[in-house]
Order: sequence, then C-alpha cells, then structure tokens
Amino acid sequence: MWLQQVVLRGVQVVGRRGVCSTVSNGKLPLHFNYINGERVSPLNPDPTQVMKVLEPATGDLLIELETSGPDEVNRAVQSAKEAFTEWSQLTGLQRGRIMQRAAQIIKDRQEEFAYWETRDTGKPIYEARMDIWTAIDAIEYFSGLAPTIAGQHVPLANGSFAYTKKEPLGVCAGIGAWNYPIQMAGWKSAPALACGNTFVFKPSQFTPITAVMLGEVYTEAGLPHGCYNVVQGAGETGTLLCEHPDVAKVSFTGSVPTGSKVMAAAAGGIKTVTLELGGKSPLIVFADANLDNAVGGAMLGNFLSQGEVCSNATRVFVENSVMDQFLAKLVERTGRMKVGDPMDDDTRVGAMIHQDQADKVMTYLDGAKKEGAVVACGGELVTPDDPRLKGCYISPCVLTNCHDNMTVVREEVFGPVVSILGFDTEEEVVQRANNTEFGLAGGVFTNDLTRAHRVIAQMQAGTCYINNFNIIDVAVPFGGFKKSGLGRENGLVTVEYYTQVKTVYVEMGDVDAPF
Ligand code: NAD
Repeated sequence: MWLQQVVLRGVQVVGRRGVCSTVSNGKLPLHFNYINGERVSPLNPDPTQVMKVLEPATGDLLIELETSGPDEVNRAVQSAKEAFTEWSQLTGLQRGRIMQRAAQIIKDRQEEFAYWETRDTGKPIYEARMDIWTAIDAIEYFSGLAPTIAGQHVPLANGSFAYTKKEPLGVCAGIGAWNYPIQMAGWKSAPALACGNTFVFKPSQFTPITAVMLGEVYTEAGLPHGCYNVVQGAGETGTLLCEHPDVAKVSFTGSVPTGSKVMAAAAGGIKTVTLELGGKSPLIVFADANLDNAVGGAMLGNFLSQGEVCSNATRVFVENSVMDQFLAKLVERTGRMKVGDPMDDDTRVGAMIHQDQADKVMTYLDGAKKEGAVVACGGELVTPDDPRLKGCYISPCVLTNCHDNMTVVREEVFGPVVSILGFDTEEEVVQRANNTEFGLAGGVFTNDLTRAHRVIAQMQAGTCYINNFNIIDVAVPFGGFKKSGLGRENGLVTVEYYTQVKTVYVEMGDVDAPF
C-alpha cells in the first residue's frame, strides 16, 4: 500500500501520501465542487480563497480546493431546485432502487473509500472501513423505507374524510463536521433523498474528499443530475447555505456554538433544522457490573477516532468499591493500544485531525494536571518511527483523581482523554451525571436489571446504553437532549424530519354554511 499508486477519478496521487494533481493539466487547485452531476470549477475563482487541506497523518498537503462562494452555492441550490420536480415525482420504489444501486457501488469500492477517509481524517483504517459501512447502511435502510412513506386516512362525519400526505420539503442542506465525513454525507443525504428531497452538502473544510466520491457514486447509480450536490468551504460557505432562500431545511453536525449560529441563520427563513452537536456524556459503572465489559465499554466510549467523537463517555463514574480493579484493567488495556500509522491494520489510535486540535487537547491536559488530576496512562505526544508521519499523535489518556468542577470534566475535549470519577450512591451519581449542559449520550454498566432501567429513566440524554457504549445501528434514532441538539438521525423517526404533513379535507355531502 505504501508506494501504491491510487487513482481517484481524475485525481492522480503518486505514492500513498503524495500531493493531488489533476490528471488533465497537472494544475492546482483541484475543482472539487460537485454540482449537477459533475465536478465543476467556481464561476469566478478567487485565488485568495484557496483552501489547503493537510493530511493529518503526515501534515503534508493533501489537496487544494477552491472555496465555494455565493455563485457556487447559488449554482448548487438552483441545480437541486431544478432536480426536485423530477425526483419528488418518482415513486418511493423508484427512488429506492437508485439508492440501492448506489449502496452496491460503494460496497464494490469500499476499500477505496476507506483509504481516502483515512487520508482525510487520520483515523485508523479499520475504523474508516466501519464508517463506510455506516453510510452504506443508511443508504440501504432509507432506500427500503422510501416506498413506505405515506400519510393517514381519517374518517369524518357523514362519510366525509380527511387524509394526510408526507411531502418532501424541497432542497435540503447538510453541513458536516470532520470526524465522520462519509457517515455524515450518508446519514444526511439518504433520508433526504428517500423522502423525495434534493440535497446540497458542505463537508468540513478539513475533510472534503469522500462527499464528492459519494456524489459520483450517486450519479453512476442513476440519480438524476442535481439531486445531490457538494459545495466546499468553511463557515462562510455554510452560512450562505443556511441563509439561501431556496433551502428549506438544514441538517447540521458540529459544535454547540456553530449549531446556535446555524439555527439563528435558518430562523430568518423559518427553516427547520436538525442539529447534532457536542457532548460530555456520562458512563456509570456499578460495583456489580462485569468489569471487563465495563472497561471495554469505557474504551469504546472514549478511544474511537482518537477520541474525536461527539457521543464519547468522557466522564466515567466508577463505584468507589471497585475503583482499583476497574482502573487496573483500564490502564492495562489502554496501554496496549497501538498509536501510529493510520494505514496499518492494527493501529488503534491514528493522527489528530490537525495541530490546533492536538494543541487544544494538550492544553486541557496541562490544565487538568494543574487542577489536581493524575495521569494514570498516556496523554503524551507520540512521534512515530516513520519520519513521514509528521502529524500529531496523542497516546490515549486515563485521568484519575478528578472532580466534577475541573475544566477537563466539564468541557468537551474532543481527544483521547477520559476522566475517571468515583461515587458511592446511585442517587448521588445520577445527579452528578446529569449536571451538564449537554445531553447527547449516557450509559450504565450493572447486572441489576431494575437499577439499569431506573438509572436510564432518569438520565438526561438522547442516546442511552445499558451494558455497552457507542454502538450505533441505522434502525435506531441517534441525537441529543439539552444543548446536544435537536431532531434525530437514523431510524423511522428521521422521515418526520425530512417531510412535511399536508392535510386534505374531503367533503362527501353538501356544504352546511350558516350564511
Ligand atoms: P464546527 O462546529 O467547528 O464545524 C462544523 C461544520 O460547520 C463545518 O463544516 C464548518 O465549516 C461549518 N461551519 C462553521 N461555522 C459555520 C456557520 N457560521 N454557519 C454554518 N456552518 C458553519 O465543528 P467541528 O470542529 O467540525 O466538529 C467537532 C464538533 O462536532 C464537536 O463539538 C462534536 O461534538 C460535534 N459533533 C457532533 C456529532 C453529533 O452527531 N452530535 C457528530 C460529530 C461531531
């Protein structure tokens, strides 16, 4: 793999970590907007608006992109608007068939997708492969749901009746974060398209590649041009999408402060929003739990994707009577995780997305130590043996001696750092677990069935786990309470977020007007 030449549809990359250049003319920047079924260059390229995307693993230039300004955003939205008439008038079965073909094409090309996802994000390739499947799952699941989307029949007096229809919203916009790029493109586009909407996606400026690959797949599968579009850029491009008068809905994944801005921008046009935001989730381990499973859950809940996961259980509450056994197992297993080249199959911790994120994590760790936390393992900058790997690598870190008021315990770190907190009673720990402005996820490990359900019933979180953590299934809704978001992704309920109800009264008798 190291020296293999990989070709990405018109982009030639020589060597695993070479610089992209277009095959046709060898000139940078690359035209990477995907509008109306093809890659296009900006109408009015602005050389000052070129984005340099660095590869997390090496720190080298991966790709250069032209930022999408008002012209491109308008072009993408107009293309989606024009495609809407044809797409929304197909039957659900017809839409579903096209989506199923797309899912099959991704399956056929999954290794290529995983390769690019790893180069774009720095996450270990074994995880990138799983992420590709979460996108495939979403496309298959919603393709199956498409023919079932229907309204209600309501009988009224004297043989009259009413019926409801679930109609698409129109042009839906998606805005993604950098930690799960292909998953977000799939989780947002699949329900939007299945419900008869058309779609414009803006991936994170740090991870622009696989969203465009997905567009090419949809086109190859027979999706009419304009149904799925991609614009590239940072916050300004996102704002243009949110404020565009022809965008009916925005589905956003990212931080709480940006989610708030997206909501405010959408408010001007009275647009619906789905917000998948940040978290500081609790995991409660009672003394009667299977401790090996609880340790496994805590690790799943903290160390996937270098800890850059919104739902992470960054506050692990452990009953004091088993704290020593739990910590010994956690530290031993965490210390065995291989940090390094994300392209190696056995790597479990890859590169942080960029230097700023690594600096942020190390600053949180410095602050935690000053506030009295003790590093039980990890938390160090790692330099891989291979000199090409010049990105930022942090060994997974377990912090002990934590208390609830520490900054690292209250704020989202978004790195491989778990804070371990002791507790004595159920009542106490439930109150402490809920003492946060976030409410994305929460979990409990116990063998006491009654207690498990009692605790989860009190937990203020949208996605809860009993005796596991951070597992996802496309058939199960995912989303947050409190500041962690609005709306849900995945599951049957998602149809409600991509459709609007039309009510139709049908009079079968005469009109009884009192005039
Ligand atoms: P971010 O909020 O900085 O950016 C997210 C996206 O919003 C990017 O595409 C960015 O370009 C865009 N953006 C920035 N300003 C904007 C604006 N004013 N209007 C419209 N779009 C704008 O988040 P990030 O750093 O990319 O991702 C990390 C955050 O995402 C974390 O807080 C994490 O918890 C959250 N996240 C949540 C979920 C979830 O499902 N709940 C999943 C993954 C990540």
